[in-house]
Amino acid sequence: MNKQQPFCEFCDIFQNKKNQIIFQNDFVFAIEDIDLASSQRHILVCPIKHIENSSYLTKNDLQLLDEIHKVCEQILQKSHPGKEYKYGFHIPPHISIDHLHYHGIVLPIRDQFFGLVKFGRLLYPMSYIKENILQQNAKKEE
Ligand SMILES: [Zn+2]
Ligand SMILES: [Zn+2]
Repeated sequence: MNKQQPFCEFCDIFQNKKNQIIFQNDFVFAIEDIDLASSQRHILVCPIKHIENSSYLTKNDLQLLDEIHKVCEQILQKSHPGKEYKYGFHIPPHISIDHLHYHGIVLPIRDQFFGLVKFGRLLYPMSYIKENILQQNAKKEE
């Protein structure tokens, strides 16, 4: 992390509020999202390294993205087996915290309005993010 970086809520949790962390390995950590979009469970999985948002991702991060999804899925399947889940990233400008985080939600989403605004159109699936990375790379190589 460089010194000019402004305060980051998620880096702060990782460094100073370990009690909020429900899972961590060498690459990612997970926390509960207090925003109960789901009546069941809503978690966030973040890379440990500070990545501001998905537009900063490169081809080198594809493995990290797979890890993020895997961890998210495992946590939800463990606590809520056999349910349907929704996963995704916000992309700029619809971001509340400037540290990349992957939402994992046990369906159904509790509030229809909230679901539409925050987790319907504005939550982009992993496949969309990966495609964007590959397209960016293709452009650079032209
Ligand atoms: Zn951060
Ligand atoms: Zn978010």
